[in-house]
Amino acid sequence: MVSPSGIAFEGTAGGRAPIAAARTRRYGAPMRAVVVGGGIVGTACALALARRGAGVELREAAPALGLGASGTNSGILHTGFDSVPGELETELILRAAVLRPPVLAALGVPFAATGAVLTPRDDAERETVATLAQGAARNGVTVVIGDDGRLEVPGEGLTDPVAFVLALGAAAQRHGARIATGTAVTGRVADADLVVNAAGLGAGRVARLHGDDSFDVHPRKGEFLVFDVTPPPQILLPVPTKRTKGVLVFGTLDGRTIAGPTAVDLDEEDWSVRPEARGELLGQAVSLYPALDGAEPVFAYAGLRPAGRGGANYVVRRSEADPALVHAAAIRSTGLTAALAIAERVAALAGADGPEAELRGGPGGWGRVPAGPWYRRAAEHRALG
Ligand SMILES: Cc1cc2nc3c(=O)[nH]c(=O)nc-3n(C[C@H](O)[C@H](O)[C@H](O)COP(=O)(O)OP(=O)(O)OC[C@H]3O[C@@H](n4cnc5c(N)ncnc54)[C@H](O)[C@@H]3O)c2cc1C
Repeated sequence: MVSPSGIAFEGTAGGRAPIAAARTRRYGAPMRAVVVGGGIVGTACALALARRGAGVELREAAPALGLGASGTNSGILHTGFDSVPGELETELILRAAVLRPPVLAALGVPFAATGAVLTPRDDAERETVATLAQGAARNGVTVVIGDDGRLEVPGEGLTDPVAFVLALGAAAQRHGARIATGTAVTGRVADADLVVNAAGLGAGRVARLHGDDSFDVHPRKGEFLVFDVTPPPQILLPVPTKRTKGVLVFGTLDGRTIAGPTAVDLDEEDWSVRPEARGELLGQAVSLYPALDGAEPVFAYAGLRPAGRGGANYVVRRSEADPALVHAAAIRSTGLTAALAIAERVAALAGADGPEAELRGGPGGWGRVPAGPWYRRAAEHRALG
């Protein structure tokens, strides 16, 4: 097996070399990996590499983990029922469904298995839903379609995305990874055998620092309204269009109701909630969940999806410009769901695909979840900054 830096790794013949894959034959020293970005993808990659014996340093520009897209999303762990069969994104969503349950359990990450439901309003939507059901069957995802065209997806559910990121970061630390926050990568990373580009909105820049201009990333803003209204028992999904999954209504683990997101393409980072977002969201939200009629939002927040320019999505591959660089970039819309499988893929691309050390749970490090609801954390951080 050959690493991105061209160094050969030990194999795992006879299953007797427990965490040997990430040790170089030449020096017997662990592979030195730098992970750029401390969102869900970077923390998952740091954990995957550390469990396979690499010496990992995660460098995050912000003063804490999970302040980017990973802490400002819908918090839904998807099944992949509506993902395009055969695409890499779909493959990784489906793989993550296998990897995730034991990790959430071991790390104490909350998950509410609420299920989701789509209710078509006319014949055209019924047809779209029927097509989705066929796609779900091809993806091997259980869905139940009623005589009225209602589609139930029992496997969808809600998590606390901030707790998920922090738990992965803490677990990576327990497996020996070093986490350096407030540490922006501003030049080519030269002190590593492997560089993982998990820099979200900054991934195009990190690639260019390594001489790779094969893709770029721009922000696609999603705004949300939070209501102090009893949440629906299931996640309420609209019938999607080609461009967006549309405005959803879902609960939070602290008993509130959220409506969102919007989808606004930007050239620059702008984390504000536009005044017009309220009008754009409310009508659609009330038609999905009439209990929101007349309710006033108690909070609003925005997340920025790291969207690949020109439609690039799930850029998970080795760089052709720099053999030490592996991209885990442009993870626009399902990264919370797929992170563990993205990380597994990155470890394999890096040549660190030997057996993993048993996952170490337990308290400490980045695992301390801050007080207050997760959806307020990033917005309040930016307001203070
Ligand atoms: C509105 C919205 C709703 C979503 N809903 C869902 C959902 O319900 N379910 C789901 O699975 N996914 C959802 N997603 C998608 C999911 O949030 C993303 O796919 C995922 O968070 C991407 O993670 P990331 O680690 O790649 O990026 P990020 O979380 O943005 O992390 C990248 C990190 O890199 C850091 N960084 C950037 N440049 C540098 C640098 N030069 N040096 C050091 N650090 C750097 C940033 O500070 C940031 O912390 C949603 C996203 C949004 C925005």
